[in-house]
Amino acid sequence: MQENAQSITVLGAGVVGIACAVHLLRDGHRVTIIDRLPPGEACSSGNAGVFASYACLPVSLPGLFWSVPGMLLDPAGALTIRMSYWLTLFPWLVKFLRAGRMEPMQSSARALSFLVNNSLEQHRDLARGAGVDHLLRPAPLVYAYADEASLSKGLHTWDWRRPYGVEPRVVRGAELRELEPALSEELPCAVVIDDCGHTTNPSLLVKGLADYAQRQGATLLQRDVIDIHPRDGGGVRLSTDDGDIMAEKIVIAAGAWSGKLAEQCGEAVPLEAERGYHLMLHDPGVELRSIVGSAKGKFLATPMDEGLRLAGTTEFAGLDAPPDYRRAEVLRSQVRDLFPDANIDDYSQWMGQRPSLPDSVPVIGPSQRHAGIYYAFGHQHIGLTSAPKTGRLIADMVAGRTPNIDLGPYRVDRFQR
Ligand SMILES: Cc1cc2nc3c(=O)[nH]c(=O)nc-3n(C[C@H](O)[C@H](O)[C@H](O)COP(=O)(O)OP(=O)(O)OC[C@H]3O[C@@H](n4cnc5c(N)ncnc54)[C@H](O)[C@@H]3O)c2cc1C
Repeated sequence: MQENAQSITVLGAGVVGIACAVHLLRDGHRVTIIDRLPPGEACSSGNAGVFASYACLPVSLPGLFWSVPGMLLDPAGALTIRMSYWLTLFPWLVKFLRAGRMEPMQSSARALSFLVNNSLEQHRDLARGAGVDHLLRPAPLVYAYADEASLSKGLHTWDWRRPYGVEPRVVRGAELRELEPALSEELPCAVVIDDCGHTTNPSLLVKGLADYAQRQGATLLQRDVIDIHPRDGGGVRLSTDDGDIMAEKIVIAAGAWSGKLAEQCGEAVPLEAERGYHLMLHDPGVELRSIVGSAKGKFLATPMDEGLRLAGTTEFAGLDAPPDYRRAEVLRSQVRDLFPDANIDDYSQWMGQRPSLPDSVPVIGPSQRHAGIYYAFGHQHIGLTSAPKTGRLIADMVAGRTPNIDLGPYRVDRFQR
């Protein structure tokens, strides 16, 4: 044990919590991880598995406001808001749309680009010694457009990423077929990002990293944390479904459930559960060389160990509403636009809750009210991509090292200003 070793409890065994735990262990700390589920079984299990180094733009963008009504009216559209949830969501939606103006968008993009940049390499480093390298794979993203008109309509959003080191290139015709032979001949053009990658099993990746963390000395407790009580003299008492736990320092990395826990620490944060769905084709009959995106359907198709995973869509309905698997059926109805020969008969469905803040930038850093409490949540569509950098930032802060970046955009109290 190192001289300045501390005792840290990480709440949440999703990809973000486990990445924090691994980096804290590498600094020599004593780490306990608490989750009511086994590792990697909530949002981190069913995602598209993409190390999206290109995903530096926030979800809310200039001009989005005008396309929202069209998306909502289209039953096969990528966005739905349950009728019963409109009123609750309204204040968040206002903040979300305001965050999509040009200047705030650029400020979010700066903060996000630091987190997503070089993601595959960051994951390789996180996986060092963990025995999960076989789950990491380099592959380009091929983001396909239905026609030239929709490509030219969408190109500016790719160009907005160039200042942050993303290098999109347009590919057409024979070159596109060579890059991804499985793609429909009806699709004339695509934007390609070469510097990309994916995992072949997101859940196994998190479980493998959690096993590694335990081999490095971490304790894993399966408990439901019901209340957090920061104590005046320092430290935190956690009430769980199986008694109280005293913690010296904690990291709240509880994904979409973190909002309630932050509130118990006196810090209200506008965190929403942005639900997404996947459809897993177990015997797809097509083999992909790349990760394929559909510009029309706004979903990704990723080759995985268990088949072809189609993941995407956005639904707002609150944390506790049951899944509406018609959203996953929409993906099923659109897959043949990409791969006409796909076998869509043998499949399973899944719903997960992305933890989303209006400006799309996760909260990473210390509580402004209580010493010894750190936050690492709100990673929206890029939690897998950005987990290694998040873990590293948290470890830096706990150790008192000053990261060479502006930490302001990640602060927990930025929504109070
Ligand atoms: C359809 C879809 C596709 C996606 N595709 C991608 C992608 O390709 N690339 C990418 O980078 N990201 C993607 N994402 C986003 C990514 O999955 C999330 O950002 C990420 O999983 C969030 O990780 P997390 O660890 O913060 O949360 P989670 O994985 O949800 O983990 C939080 C954990 O906290 C635990 N917890 C919560 N509250 C408590 C409590 N009170 N007591 C005990 N335990 C608690 C939960 O049980 C859970 O295990 C996608 C998401 C969806 C829905």
